[in-house]
Parts: sequence; structure tokens; C-alpha cells
Amino acid sequence: MRLISTLLIAIILLTGCLNGPSLDKPIAGAGTGNEQISSEPQAEAKPEDTSFHTDGEQPGYVQPPENKRNDADYPEADGDTEAVWMAVGDIMMHMPQLPAAYDKQRKRYNFNPFFEQVKPILEEGDWTLANLETPIAGKSLGYSGFPRFNAPSELAEALKYAGFNIITTANNHALDRGAEGLRLTLNNLLAQGFTVKGTARSKAEADKLTIVKHKGIRMGLLAYTYGTNGIALPKNKPYAVSIIEEATIIRDIGRLREAGADFITVALHFGTEYQAQPNDRQKALARKLIAAGADIIAGSHPHVVQPYETVETTAGDGSPRRGLIIYSMGNFLSNQRGDMKDFGVIYKVRIHKDKSGMTTIGDVQPIPTWVYRSGLKGSYRYMILPLERAVDSRQIKELTDADYESLIRSLDVMVQRITSMAAASNTKK
Ligand SMILES: [Zn+2]
Repeated sequence: MRLISTLLIAIILLTGCLNGPSLDKPIAGAGTGNEQISSEPQAEAKPEDTSFHTDGEQPGYVQPPENKRNDADYPEADGDTEAVWMAVGDIMMHMPQLPAAYDKQRKRYNFNPFFEQVKPILEEGDWTLANLETPIAGKSLGYSGFPRFNAPSELAEALKYAGFNIITTANNHALDRGAEGLRLTLNNLLAQGFTVKGTARSKAEADKLTIVKHKGIRMGLLAYTYGTNGIALPKNKPYAVSIIEEATIIRDIGRLREAGADFITVALHFGTEYQAQPNDRQKALARKLIAAGADIIAGSHPHVVQPYETVETTAGDGSPRRGLIIYSMGNFLSNQRGDMKDFGVIYKVRIHKDKSGMTTIGDVQPIPTWVYRSGLKGSYRYMILPLERAVDSRQIKELTDADYESLIRSLDVMVQRITSMAAASNTKK
């Protein structure tokens, strides 16, 4: 285990990271608790703030007053500032997961316990993103699993509880329950105060630029999917799901830059399912988008973890610029088991903005996770665990020595895989 950490640290250091992140301390800072998640107070939205936060359709992100952060604390012209970007892969809801969360007394679902163990980590993020791979249209449309999902809307509450504040919805399941499912899903997410990207209820919403500012750093956000499982886009709403089209994405990156984004995240739902390495089309598209001005590509869809790489390119003014491509973050939550489908990764990335306004990507810390499923069929329990800590502390008493040996091997495989391209791209420098 120590060896794996050391290897990862070495690679992270080689790729230009300065702060010595360690998988041994994935929850450093946890316990300070409440202050991490911030959302810009609506009253302070500046004219150029074009995110969903300004559209007045959501009741607001309610926080205790002492936790409120605002940009007055981070004067832009007055020094360096740093914020934390975090993301996870697919949030899936297969039918066996539903009884695991049903509260018979209150007659509603409570998915919070699934996220209990990763919450302290996710709360370290200023921007904390997840790909929601299921409509959460609610009861009225009936719940369903694969292949046409619809999960309880209570999942939105759990995602908020877990520490997420940004949800991307452009994926192949976005239209599983039609345009109505898409609309209700967006309503339910916005009601919880999330910034949502990738699907839209109106043309205006689809065209709206999303820029989310934390600690004086403006992140522009885009999200697209390769397709919608053969379900046609609604004829009268072709904008309902953002589909990957290179020219469109490059145009949108340009619009965000013009609108003042300091860095740009492009969430891409792409790749080949169950493949450990990205395919050539993934690599070509992601690298092209970095060259076109994207800073981070946040990949999902293959249901297994694929590597990340950092690529060097040049900024508009000719200065060198470093982009981060994460090809796939695997399943963060699902009922899929075996062949590494029950593993995922949380990415923690430091974003730095200097006095001159130059924004750069700092250290990149992948934190492998595992969906622990206990109990018997029909009454499973689920818990997402930070894997290295779970293994080191033998956290789950029910697991045998053989189980732990197997988990250690899986962790080894995953760390090798995650970092396999990071080392390669480093040698090109
Ligand atoms: Zn998918």
C-alpha cells in the first residue's frame, strides 16, 4: 500500500505538483466540516455572472450564515488565490439500490448513508461535480432500472448532502423517460440549488453560459454526451440534450472565454464501455479541446476507471498552458459488480489564480473509491468507501482477509491504470 502511495506521489510530483498530495491522507482538513461548500450568494451575482444561479428558478442554496463565503474575502486584484475542483464519475441507480434506501416509517427514500464515508472528502471541493446517469423524475413516472432509468427525486437531496454542488446531466440516459423525465429531473436538481449542465428545458436555458465563481476564480462549465441510447431528441426540443460536436464545443469554449471564464471544464460522456484505456477518438477529441482553450476534460461513461493525462499547449497569448484530461472516472455509485465496475475515483485538483489573473492547474490527486455492498439479495446495503483508507484501517469488519487481499490487488490495478498516461505525458516535456 505504501508503495502504491509512493508511486502515485512520485508521479504527481513529476507532473508538476508542488504540494505533495498523499493518498494516505485523503481526508486532510475533513472535520473542519461546514465551511467547504460554497455557492455564490445570489445577491452578489455580478452582471457577467451567467450561470443558472441568476435565473431565479431555484430557491437558493441555503447555508448557515457563518459558512457563507463571498468574493469580498478573495479580492481579485490583491494577491494569489486557490480553489479546489473535485469530480466523480457516474451516479447510477439500479433497482436493487432502491430497497436499500427506503425508510418505511417516513415512506420515502434516504440515500444519504450511501455517501456518508466520502462526504468529508467531497466537502473539500469548491466546485464538486458528479455525472447523474439517471433521470430523477420522481414517483409520478414510476421508478425503473436498466435500461430506461428513473430514480426517486430524494437522490438529489443525498447528492447535496454528500457535498456536490454541480451536476452534469448530458449522458446516454438523459432521455430514458422522455422530455418530461428530463424536465422533472432538472426541476428536482434546481430545487436543491445545484448548478446543472448538459440538458435544458428551453432554448434559452440551453444557450445560457454557465460560469461558477469561487474564491475569485470563475469556472466555465460545458457538458456533452456522445448520444442518448438511440432515443431521438424531441423534435420540438433538439436542444434538450447537449450532443458532442467538435465545432459546437469549440465555439462554446470561445463564448465562455469571452464572457470572462478563468478556466473551463468540459464534461464529456464518451468512450467505450468497460475498456481500461481511452480509445483513439476520445484522445483526439480531448486533446483538440484542450488546444482550443479547455483546461479540464472530465470524462465519464465507460463504467470503469481510465487514466488521466496532463498535456502542454499554448494559451492565446503564446504562453505555455497545461491541460488536464481525465478519460473516465468509473462508477461512483452503482449496483454493477466485478471487472472493476464497482470502483471509481474522486479527483481533487487545485486551481490557482495569480495576481495577474493567470489561472493554472496545480496538483492532481486521484482518490480511488469502492462501492461496498453488504447483505443479501433483496436487502443489500451500499456504501461508497475511500478505498485506500478502508483497506489500511480494515474498516469493514465483515470482510475477510481474502477480501482485503483482493481489494489491495484492485487498488493496485486501479492506481497503475489511473497514472499510466500521466507518466507517459510527463516524458514528452
Ligand atoms: Zn453512460
